[in-house]
Amino acid sequence: MPRVLLVAATTGYQTRMFADAARRLGFDLVLATDRCHVLEDPWRDRAIPVRFEDANAARDVLVANGPFDAIVAVADRPALVAAIAAEALGLPHNPPAAVSASRDKYLARQRFQAVGLPVPQFFRVPLSADAAGTARRASFPCVLKPLGLSGSRGVIRANDVEEFIVAFERVRAILDGVDVQILREEQNRYIQVESFIDGREFALEGLLTHGELQVLAIFDKPDPLDGPFFEETLYVTPSRESGETQRMMIETIRQAVRALGLMHGPIHAEMRVNQTGVWVLEVAARPIGGLCARTLRFDGGVPLEELILRHAIGEDVSCATLSDPASGVMMIPIPRGGIYQGVSGVEEASAVPHVVEVAITAKEGHKILPLPEGSSYLGFIFARGESPECVEQALRRAHALMRFEIATALPVM
Ligand code: ADP
Repeated sequence: MPRVLLVAATTGYQTRMFADAARRLGFDLVLATDRCHVLEDPWRDRAIPVRFEDANAARDVLVANGPFDAIVAVADRPALVAAIAAEALGLPHNPPAAVSASRDKYLARQRFQAVGLPVPQFFRVPLSADAAGTARRASFPCVLKPLGLSGSRGVIRANDVEEFIVAFERVRAILDGVDVQILREEQNRYIQVESFIDGREFALEGLLTHGELQVLAIFDKPDPLDGPFFEETLYVTPSRESGETQRMMIETIRQAVRALGLMHGPIHAEMRVNQTGVWVLEVAARPIGGLCARTLRFDGGVPLEELILRHAIGEDVSCATLSDPASGVMMIPIPRGGIYQGVSGVEEASAVPHVVEVAITAKEGHKILPLPEGSSYLGFIFARGESPECVEQALRRAHALMRFEIATALPVM
């Protein structure tokens, strides 16, 4: 029975999907996480507690719990710990330096620039920098962003100096927050400024096998993402772009993977395409996050997590193909901050043809925070169908049928 180590920062849905897949495959899946204090079954007794902020200590703990036949990581911080541990355990994985570069938007830009990939003008300044002085170095429109957060958290467009100064203070406040400080990551001490890249946006899900990229899916993001904040909302696959454009996207991501030095395991890449070409936003050494993986099923219904586990133990999955002609997800954005009270219209939304599931993840009575400070969603709508057009339409119709109730949060005195 293959023994596989899963390194994860959450104990929720995605780890449960891996646990289910492992059970079906007959693998012994061992979870390592920094969330042991909030663990749910079935992990309670068996999870290995690690602290991601001390990757070398985490490596030693994981090695002591070996041997393993493979290591899989979900999310960005676990990806680095997994890479360091895999190196010590002699398992195929990504070089730690490549994962570090993929997790740091400044390092990644430098690597892309070094191999001649198109990059926007970019520079980073320490959190303590003067906003007005920094604005003078920017060209407009531009985007301000943290180097190491995800889900568009803290990413803000500024069109002029005035907007820049407001945005800068907002990003600074996010990075100064306790939830970010507690991660103790050097990259969170900087703000990056990039010129704004026009264009349509796409995501690519792939698997690397000893450096070779296998494309699992290309997603269109059919909503315009022009800022000032960048809510993801819709992902629809297959892409409706021409074969030529898709080939360009794949080739560019191949180059980006090589530039970073990533070698093995799942990747999730984001890019923009305009008349000058394909611009990589990021290549992360992990699969698509959380519930969104549900959009991808292979060969008659195999979930992405199962494919990743089989690939991890060395099985050849290069022939895997998507089972649905088209599928997609809407990540339901949080329209405003407050206390989430509930939702109506879920039944009607679920009944829209092609909608296969409406999953509300917001918890009643809990505080919700929209972008750029927050990074979560109210929930997710999934659809499958004959064409990307009908999937997109179904997602939009279902979303329009739901009403979310959000009460104004009273300030804490
Ligand atoms: P995260 O890792 O938090 O998702 P990204 O750097 O990928 O951060 O940025 C999030 C989103 O912000 C992107 O998906 C894109 O829509 C937008 N964005 C980021 N950088 C730029 C840029 N230079 N030009 C235009 N849009 C950008």
